[in-house]
Amino acid sequence: MSSTKQRGKAEQIIADFSQHTFEAADDFYFDAADDVIFYNPNQLHTPRGLMSLLHEVAHAELAHFDYRSDLELFAMETQAWNKTRELAIERDIACSDHYIEQCLASYSRWIDARSTCPVCTNFSLQTDSTTYHCFSCKTRWHIQESADMRVRRVRLN
Ligand SMILES: [Zn+2]
Ligand SMILES: [Zn+2]
Repeated sequence: MSSTKQRGKAEQIIADFSQHTFEAADDFYFDAADDVIFYNPNQLHTPRGLMSLLHEVAHAELAHFDYRSDLELFAMETQAWNKTRELAIERDIACSDHYIEQCLASYSRWIDARSTCPVCTNFSLQTDSTTYHCFSCKTRWHIQESADMRVRRVRLN
């Protein structure tokens, strides 16, 4: 696919989902509070850029507003990637399952790191948005709010 054609597809996506607000930015992310989809215009001529745009559209379409735990965030990401794949197929946009797997794997590693007990390495449960509790050795620890994970992407280069 030529890059002019890819750019046309990006414009089409933005036109088709005009119920949401689109704004140019340095990265791709969805601001649920204001229903704004941010995108990097310099990447829209690449298949990866189109996928990223569709991914944020998927979050917006699925009305992903809030999550109370890391696992809930992970579930939202999985749903959003499934929807991204559907939207890509509908629009004849190349969609890399390998890239999707990499993105989900990075979330899964991130959750593992947060949920592993620092004392006994037991897998532990999250008790609220910033706390985990180990049922084996009773250690509690705090984690940062997960909002920043939203915009994290696997970089393959
Ligand atoms: Zn996402
Ligand atoms: Zn423990």
